[in-house]
Amino acid sequence: MVDRLLIRGGIVLTQDPTLGELPNADILIESDRIKAIGPNLSADGAKVIDAKGDIVIPGFIDSHRHTWETSIRTCAPDFALITYFGNILDKFAPHYRPDDVFAANQWGSLECLNAGITTLVDWSHIMNTPAHADEAIRGLAVTGIRSVFAYGFPNTSLQDWWFGPDYSGSILTSDGAEARRIKAQYFNSDKGRITMSLATRGPGFCKPEVVRHDWELAKELGILITVHVAMDRFGYTKMQVKALRDMNLLYPGTTYVHGSHFTDEEWGLVRESGGNVSFAPQIEIQMGHGWAPAVTATAYDIPIGLSSDVATTASSDQFTQMHAIFGSERGRKHQEAWDADLDGLQASPGLITARQVLHWATLGGAHVAGIADRTGSLTPGKKADVVIIDGGAVNVAPIIDPVAAVVCAADVSNVRTVIVDGEIVKDDFRLKAPLAGPRKAVEASRDYLVEKFGEPEPGWLPRA
Ligand SMILES: [Zn+2]
Repeated sequence: MVDRLLIRGGIVLTQDPTLGELPNADILIESDRIKAIGPNLSADGAKVIDAKGDIVIPGFIDSHRHTWETSIRTCAPDFALITYFGNILDKFAPHYRPDDVFAANQWGSLECLNAGITTLVDWSHIMNTPAHADEAIRGLAVTGIRSVFAYGFPNTSLQDWWFGPDYSGSILTSDGAEARRIKAQYFNSDKGRITMSLATRGPGFCKPEVVRHDWELAKELGILITVHVAMDRFGYTKMQVKALRDMNLLYPGTTYVHGSHFTDEEWGLVRESGGNVSFAPQIEIQMGHGWAPAVTATAYDIPIGLSSDVATTASSDQFTQMHAIFGSERGRKHQEAWDADLDGLQASPGLITARQVLHWATLGGAHVAGIADRTGSLTPGKKADVVIIDGGAVNVAPIIDPVAAVVCAADVSNVRTVIVDGEIVKDDFRLKAPLAGPRKAVEASRDYLVEKFGEPEPGWLPRA
């Protein structure tokens, strides 16, 4: 980490509501924090990065990803959610060794940093043994990414862990001892680069006493909850928020992942209880969860974050998610206008904008991750999590509206420089971390897991 760093002369999209968008500004970083933002700041011995003509944004936030699945990337392009459950969770997950979790988390985190994602919420429901948890955390830590380790539960049997009759199916978490150990061993402070939340199953997925146990455990540990809700046409994901209300378990800061099929009453409950939503739009429309109802969430003034969810089925970067939600939510509104027979010579009402989309991918995601006090915007005093996007690239230039350039034109190949906690982790298009070892590890993990999976359907799994 250099002590002082000056990013000179960029087009700065701060996402800070006070500072706004600055066409030509410098960012001064001291140690791990943003010291100042404005034109013509004094370099005063700082290392200078010339960003003239480039676009500077806060690091992207991925608000929900099962990073352990990076080992089996794109094994399931054509899956719907129901086939995903049966194959990924029931046939792959039980075979995961701690080494596989480490390799996947390390590789997935490097993928994030390369793509300008500086904060990752790792929704880790691969806690098959205590060592799996340790290796998941180590895989995040070695890369230097900011992350929220969402401690989950074992995935040794779909029947036991999602729909099982009994919470005591595992020695691991039946009394919360493992969650307490993880918290005490790794997360005594909530100010570190990695913090902890609880990834839970929730109503419909397990018995009510299990739900109550998990929610009370999160409260005891002083950590936030993230839970999948209201997805696909599954009966057991319907009315989960209402069920939580009936159990008096609507906690502020809870992240409701997907939420494609909330009732109006449930939207109101999420808002009143101070909850937020994480949408994985590419996955949701591709696998059948439902739409990513950002227009509705916005109407209820509920914080929105974007997420990549599963690498088994789609690209895991925020450009993909921004494109997916921009297209799908506008598509929904255009269809509604068509169905209402509104005059085609006027724009459809209620269309989302590129600025909203960039907000969700950055500061909105930080709110969802529960760490907007330290990241998500370029704000003096916040942690220096900064991304520089190449404004001169063949797919980005010429720039007219820099927000549109990021949301509609740029992709991962344009992520030039990435800074996390004041540390340059990607410099001039190259990750600083060596890739050969981590790649070898994740490929070996793939080979092992594919072999364990057994005879695949022809054509959809890599063969040796
Ligand atoms: Zn998920």
